[in-house]
Amino acid sequence: MRTRLAVLAGAIGVALALAGGVHAQGKKGMAGEDAGAAGAASEPADGELAPDMIGAFFPQRADVEAMRRRGFFATGLRPLYPADAKCLEANSFFADSTRGDGSARSTRFYAGYHGGLDIPAPEGTPIVAVADGTVVHKGEGGGIGGIGIVLRHAPEETGFPAWVYTEYKHLREMPDLDLGRQVKMGEVIARVGKTGTVGSRAYGAAGHAHLHLTAWYGASDKYRPGRMLIPLDGYWMDPLALFRGPPAASGEIEKLPEHAKKAPLPYKGADGRVVPEGARVVWPFVCEKR
Ligand SMILES: [Zn+2]
Repeated sequence: MRTRLAVLAGAIGVALALAGGVHAQGKKGMAGEDAGAAGAASEPADGELAPDMIGAFFPQRADVEAMRRRGFFATGLRPLYPADAKCLEANSFFADSTRGDGSARSTRFYAGYHGGLDIPAPEGTPIVAVADGTVVHKGEGGGIGGIGIVLRHAPEETGFPAWVYTEYKHLREMPDLDLGRQVKMGEVIARVGKTGTVGSRAYGAAGHAHLHLTAWYGASDKYRPGRMLIPLDGYWMDPLALFRGPPAASGEIEKLPEHAKKAPLPYKGADGRVVPEGARVVWPFVCEKR
């Protein structure tokens, strides 16, 4: 029911956008849902977005079929942590319907599926850029989103034949990085926080300090700015695919043999060395020597 309503709301949004009425709608949701939760959930549709982008990218208008078409489904990728280093480990994966503690995710957002990778870490832990890139978005989503930033990575910066975006959420504070700022792989860009989780039904008053890492990709460097960044004609990407390397497409990853779905994570060590040498993408936390 919710899905059908979401599709309907999306269709109305597109119609209004085509009619040029999109900017007059303000921040109130078309579907009458509360604003703020999960970022720009209720932001009006944008004329530049393909219709199925709305069902795939707006958390509260989620349409599972649109999500699937845009790569938002479980790929089966699992991390293989380095034997020679101790890395902070993920506990909730892409498209999981449960949180790290095993509880069911709220179906209010993306139909209950997880849009990224959760890595619990003590508050204040430095987060590093997974690849060279440019700061293209900074936002404070309220609700479950908290404070977040988005980097855009050119194809030559990651080795993927596409423009890749990485989003880092629940940050302790807004990083002091201007839009357009170039960052280097392994550079500290933010600190782990629990913004957006405190007082939520899921995490309670104490909140949950963790990094939520999202990844998307698209054929062009164009994106829709606004409260929530959306790559134009973009696709969801299992964040673990970043570290495994191409392909980026969930449908291609899903078909890989099981052994190919467990790829060792490249990382930056406490001594500053990148392992393996020459890697263009690293785990978002520095790993300590064992
Ligand atoms: Zn998450």
